[in-house]
Amino acid sequence: MSSATTTPASSLPIVADLHTHTSRSDGSCAPGEVVRAAAALGLSAVAITDHDTIAGLSPARLEAERLGLILVPGVELTVHWRGREFHLLAYGFREEDPGLNAMLDGLAQARVERLRTIVANLEHRHGVVVEFEAVRAGYPRAALGRGHLADHLVTQGVVASRRDAFDRFLGDDQLDLPRPSLDLEQAIHTVRQAGGFTALAHPPRDLDDSQWVQWRDLGMEAVETRWPAADRNTRVKMGRLARRLGFEIVAGSDFHHPGRAGRHVGAVGLGPGEWERLRDRLRSATIDASATVESIPAEFVPRAVSSRFVSSATANLDLN
Ligand code: AMP
Ligand code: FE
Ligand code: FE
Ligand code: ZN
Repeated sequence: MSSATTTPASSLPIVADLHTHTSRSDGSCAPGEVVRAAAALGLSAVAITDHDTIAGLSPARLEAERLGLILVPGVELTVHWRGREFHLLAYGFREEDPGLNAMLDGLAQARVERLRTIVANLEHRHGVVVEFEAVRAGYPRAALGRGHLADHLVTQGVVASRRDAFDRFLGDDQLDLPRPSLDLEQAIHTVRQAGGFTALAHPPRDLDDSQWVQWRDLGMEAVETRWPAADRNTRVKMGRLARRLGFEIVAGSDFHHPGRAGRHVGAVGLGPGEWERLRDRLRSATIDASATVESIPAEFVPRAVSSRFVSSATANLDLN
């Protein structure tokens, strides 16, 4: 795939993109490509937040070290809360943590079984025969989903494109099976035990304060306040909510594929002051994460406004 950068940087002073996907989940760029795109834009930091896997972090880190920007360890966990699916971003954890890895291994296994069932249903309902192990072997390090099956159908010549695969087969109710997900509370705790912290990704509009307070009390520390599909009102609303309830803020492009307007690497992210705060939080998160942060040459790190921990209640939030 060509460069992950398809649009010039906006005039907003974005220095850190905290939400990106790679080919290790449902993105189309290799981890190193995403890091190169971030470096090309002059970002200070980028987080790789693949769905349910941290497999992209090692290759991304090699590239980040070579290019001199901070790789924030991340993952976007599929979670459920009272029967509803949410996406929970996690950052700054110890990547070797046994509890975290056991949780991710369980999810990976469940994704394999889900896709195995989808492949079986594809044959029963549409007469399309696919060898499941061939799909699996094609994406050995990925958190498997229907996107991989779609790509496999393209390479096998069964369909013309990914879109075609979804339109003809994979959008079928019997193939659009529920995604495996973690209990939200368990996910928050496991990430905390691994030294990291969590943030609700692209929060739905209908949540009320009592919901947020419950999650905060469970140990969720941050919220994604800006993402590509969020309009200005939503961004303002989420920024106020974070300030009112004492959440740290994260923001990112949710980059998946090159060529999507407004969703390129660095299209959405944190400004310098916001990144500075989060960097302090990451420094205090884990030895591993702080080692990553400290190894960055000074010229790539935004100048410190204040190294003190500032309570979210008084943070000067950038509402752009
Ligand atoms: P899954 O996690 O298995 O449900 O697959 C979700 C992924 O499939 C998404 O992240 C997209 O990459 C892809 N996808 C879902 N719906 C469509 C669609 N209608 N057209 C193209 N890709 C899709
Ligand atoms: Fe995705
Ligand atoms: Fe998401
Ligand atoms: Zn995402």
